Amino acid sequence: MPTGWSRLTRACSGPSFAKARRAAEPQAVRRPQDFTSRRRRMAVVRTLTTTRPKRPLWRCPKCGHRFVTANVWHSCGRYRIAEHFRGKPAVVRQAFNAFVGLARSCGPVTVYAQKTRIVIQARVRFAGGRPLGDHFRAALWLRRRASHRRLTRIESFGSLGYGHYFRLESPADIDRELEALMREAYDIGRQEHGGATGA
Ligand SMILES: [Zn+2]
Repeated sequence: MPTGWSRLTRACSGPSFAKARRAAEPQAVRRPQDFTSRRRRMAVVRTLTTTRPKRPLWRCPKCGHRFVTANVWHSCGRYRIAEHFRGKPAVVRQAFNAFVGLARSCGPVTVYAQKTRIVIQARVRFAGGRPLGDHFRAALWLRRRASHRRLTRIESFGSLGYGHYFRLESPADIDRELEALMREAYDIGRQEHGGATGA
């Protein structure tokens, strides 16, 4: 039996676990009574539906980027957005600018460069991309599989949703449909509907 496992078994059957279980039991018994009076029931509903204040973001002291989780792994470094576009056609940068403009139209965002990509973040990252030859390969994080005339690939993130990749060759590729998808992605970026805990 591996040491880690036996330690785990001891922890689960030891006195501290039993104590923790006893402490948890009265709550479980008491809980149904919370629903006996209408007043208390409404109080519970209010608690469940009220948006809790969000934790302030952690700021990496080295690169200055902000994240939901402190000390989360990230591509730490200071890169310049302009470096990604060096030697690329101007229209690729224009497509990127239009994509960022679309993100900004949803609300406050931070845009920054990493080594291999550019990230667009509200509370969490929800969009981004990188220039690839003659186009900007834009990415959006969505809860569902969506379709769009410029969509080239969908990547599954499991229960968290799907990464969508778009081939943007010019600002003209930013249309109403992409705007609607950006709004969906921005909702994830704001963590309005929970689930987005990473960075
Ligand atoms: Zn950093």
